[in-house]
Amino acid sequence: MVKKPIYVDNHATTRTDPRVVDAMLPYFTEHFGNAASRTHDFGWQAADAVDTARTQVATLIGARATEIVFTSGATEANNLAIQGVTKKHSGEPHHVITVVTEHRAVLDPCEMVQQQGGRVTYLSVQPDGLVDIDELDRAVRPDTILITVMTVNNEIGVIQPIADISKVARAHGVPLHTDAAQALGKTPVEVDQLGVDFLSMSAHKMYGPKGVGALYIRGGNHRIALEPLIYGGGHEQGLRSGTLNVAGIVGFGCAAELCAKEFMTELDYVKRLRDRLWNGLNDRVSDIRLNGSMDRRVHHNLNVSFTGVDGEALLISLDDIAASSGSACSSESHTPSHVVQALGVEDNLARASIRFGLSHDNTDAEIDYIVNKVADMVRHLRALSPLCKDDVSHEEDDPIVARWLGDR
Ligand SMILES: *Cc1c(COP(=O)(O)O)cnc(C)c1O
Repeated sequence: MVKKPIYVDNHATTRTDPRVVDAMLPYFTEHFGNAASRTHDFGWQAADAVDTARTQVATLIGARATEIVFTSGATEANNLAIQGVTKKHSGEPHHVITVVTEHRAVLDPCEMVQQQGGRVTYLSVQPDGLVDIDELDRAVRPDTILITVMTVNNEIGVIQPIADISKVARAHGVPLHTDAAQALGKTPVEVDQLGVDFLSMSAHKMYGPKGVGALYIRGGNHRIALEPLIYGGGHEQGLRSGTLNVAGIVGFGCAAELCAKEFMTELDYVKRLRDRLWNGLNDRVSDIRLNGSMDRRVHHNLNVSFTGVDGEALLISLDDIAASSGSACSSESHTPSHVVQALGVEDNLARASIRFGLSHDNTDAEIDYIVNKVADMVRHLRALSPLCKDDVSHEEDDPIVARWLGDR
């Protein structure tokens, strides 16, 4: 028997690795010092732990420790990159290029840029979810100050061609930022190979704790590149004031080290589960559609649309499976995902999409359970729809549907 509910919503957050928790615990009660206290052992110990973590995080992405600024997560890192660079150019015309399929944590700061008088170009994506390099090249203008394209999409798992995008950015002398929250531990991320100037990270997407992340900033002279958004105390080279979350940072460092060490095992293991899920669904369910490229995709993700089935209804019927439709942030609203829509998928099919986010904690038995349950529920929901859609009495006639309707 598999233990339920089964968690396959790992793009929303991952379970903190118990080894990470163990590494963090002493920094709450024993080594609880403030990393900015420079006059006693409590402070020095905390500062040492932060230094170690900074090196662990930097090493994961092939950067130097001095290029890492700790933040509260990827949302803050994205804001620091986008708004921080824009602030440097306030008072002169400025233009930012991004992509329609970005996370809200990029799209909303870009909207702020517009509200404050800047211009933003939103690139479309091809049907496989990838950016068209020529379209990007044509979008660059003399006043372009930043290009921001995510490494891996949080809904459809596609891997953007960041190294190619970097060639365009460099040719025009424009800095490149990437939101790599969904990329770390899932695909190789190396700042020189990618050719990025800024890179956002989040610990809780890679088996670390929530509330901590970082922005990588190329080169040492940070204040040249961007303005801080938070003032007070001058921590993190003046770019992010506020007492450091020492325990969180220690956890992030530990997660980064584990991530580097166990990368190949993680990929092999998750790929096998992903193939089992995809093959199982294909064997058991007709008319399914994979959203986003299969080749340029992290193994941790499958985003599937089921023709003739409402995604929300399907999710509710999968009552012992924690998956999601769209991203965690938009899943309360019943609008189709902006990402799946951007692939050119029509609204009904976009609304019928489910995101499976796998982790190294998932098992073969869990995957088999999911395949069977999804196959059963899709069959039942299709039997009801569309003719009986508004006829509740018909729904209640169906024993399986009646059971979950009753449970709601
Ligand atoms: C989760 C996520 C974020 C937000 O990260 P937080 O650390 O929770 O602020 C940003 N971008 C992407 C792509 C994400 O998946």
